[in-house]
Amino acid sequence: RIIEAHGRRPEALLQMLVDIQAQENWLPPEVLTALSKRLGMARARIDGVAGFYSFLHTEPVGRYRILFSDNIIDRMLGSEALMALMCRKLIIAPGRVSEDGLVSVDTTSCTGMGDQGPAILVNGHAIAHLDHQRVNEICELVRQQRPLDAWPSQYFQVHDNIRRRDALLDADFAPGDAILAAVSMGRTGWLEAVRKANLRGHGGAGFTTAVKWQACRDAAGADKVVVCNADEGEPGTFKDRVLLTRHAHRVIEGMTLAAWATGARCGFLYLRGEYRHLLAPLRSVLADRRQAGWLGDRIAGVEGFDFDIDIHLGAGAYVCGEETALIESLEGKRGTPRIRPPFPVEAGYLGRPTVVNNVETLAKCCLIALRGGEAFARTGTAQSTGTKLLSVSGDCARPGVYEYPFGVTVAQVLDDCGASDVQAVQVGGAAGITIAPYEFGRRIAFEDVPTAGAFMIFDSSRDMFEVARNFVHFFAHESCGFCTPCRVGTTLLCKTLDKLADGYGSSVDLREIDDLDRLLKQASHCGLGSAAPNPVLDGLLKFRPVYEQRLVRKDFTPAFDLDGALARARQMTGRDDAGAHLDNAMEDDA
Ligand code: SF4
Repeated sequence: RIIEAHGRRPEALLQMLVDIQAQENWLPPEVLTALSKRLGMARARIDGVAGFYSFLHTEPVGRYRILFSDNIIDRMLGSEALMALMCRKLIIAPGRVSEDGLVSVDTTSCTGMGDQGPAILVNGHAIAHLDHQRVNEICELVRQQRPLDAWPSQYFQVHDNIRRRDALLDADFAPGDAILAAVSMGRTGWLEAVRKANLRGHGGAGFTTAVKWQACRDAAGADKVVVCNADEGEPGTFKDRVLLTRHAHRVIEGMTLAAWATGARCGFLYLRGEYRHLLAPLRSVLADRRQAGWLGDRIAGVEGFDFDIDIHLGAGAYVCGEETALIESLEGKRGTPRIRPPFPVEAGYLGRPTVVNNVETLAKCCLIALRGGEAFARTGTAQSTGTKLLSVSGDCARPGVYEYPFGVTVAQVLDDCGASDVQAVQVGGAAGITIAPYEFGRRIAFEDVPTAGAFMIFDSSRDMFEVARNFVHFFAHESCGFCTPCRVGTTLLCKTLDKLADGYGSSVDLREIDDLDRLLKQASHCGLGSAAPNPVLDGLLKFRPVYEQRLVRKDFTPAFDLDGALARARQMTGRDDAGAHLDNAMEDDA
């Protein structure tokens, strides 16, 4: 039934696996074999895809799969203690399935609930605002084997927490208004308006939207594709979740405007697996828009303006936020970033010219259509026009979504959200910039501090070494493993920081970090690998004492107790060569 629902298309493989797992709670081998036969696809390829995504399981994970968000902000809010409590109550070890096969508890990367953590996913469904009482209640529901749809509905409430509105969140217009305005300009006029607006991608890279659209429009091939990248995986960001909840019409309308500019007939909204709770509401928005004539054939009554959208659910892979990895995933494959060129605008989804735009970028297009490109560009700074949505979390009184004109200072945001005694702000997520107090006058803009939206605040009680260590572990966990420098380099970076944390650090290890940085920056295939050392390098530059206080000596120190490890062997063999003691050997060298 699942295969038929997806039209037996090999590119729908990932969606089939997601659906099978939703039904079975895991991917039983006999089902994968049957899938392989029915699709005429090698079992090895299916296993390769199933093994790539962290939300797909080829081993049983229990009827209830509980995942704690392991973002640093969730940790600051007490997630580790709550997870330990849950494991004690359910009598299971973290990462293991209970003996009766009922439940497993583990961690996952940031679930996009930094404004209302600690948060968990239960069988893919988000529960925020976790505390002791809620953990106790959840354990009881699990023991009673209550189906998820019989759990109290308030558990699954996700709040929008919009704290500051500006041009986008304040705008008042009806579905279709922006389409009518763009259609009235003609395809060329509309593209020209986007060019005048100087709209740049809000996913982090800041590429000029009009240039991307023009390249796709000019590319050979009629079957062009528009993709909305709603794989908001950068730790600490959640503003796309709020846009998709509160303003889904604007995002979908933005995709339709991209189709008007490029001539695309087909669109995909790639929704991160952590936002599964948005799947049904988004499908309902799509249905409403088809009904109203804002999707489908002859949109706005214009001959040849045909466009429709399908939703593709991700399955827990941060790297799929990279546009070529996302396209691979859309094609039902492992999310491995492609070699460029060719760029997606020339050869993207199934080799067709494809534009990939971020949720916020697309929503902003509605404002350009309604107000014109020049009016849009009057807000913000010279190189960063319009406004920016920030996901503010961490040590502040009012976490949530804040919309500002580009150019707002870090200090202004801190003031507005009620932060005090601030030691650092991590802007742009794990891959972003750590801002120290002497930099709080810097501005959120592509020409100063660029960001996809994460704004994580740490007061003076926080250990900035542990913050960086959390980010580095995140990168090692999310490395797709395609290229050796990243696969090995991120792991070595983790081991080096773990060594410092365990009290075996030396200045040699700090030099090792510099070497790893060079390796990762120069030889990684995609941005994940090259950005992985950033939080540590910023930490060493701006918060060096918290690293140096962990150094036990200046020369090399092993990450383990060599003499302790050899003690038993020495005792059994009766041999204890003085030169085989590391301390003595180093003194001899000196
Ligand atoms: Fe994968 Fe890392 Fe290489 Fe990127 S840099 S392709 S994430 S292994």
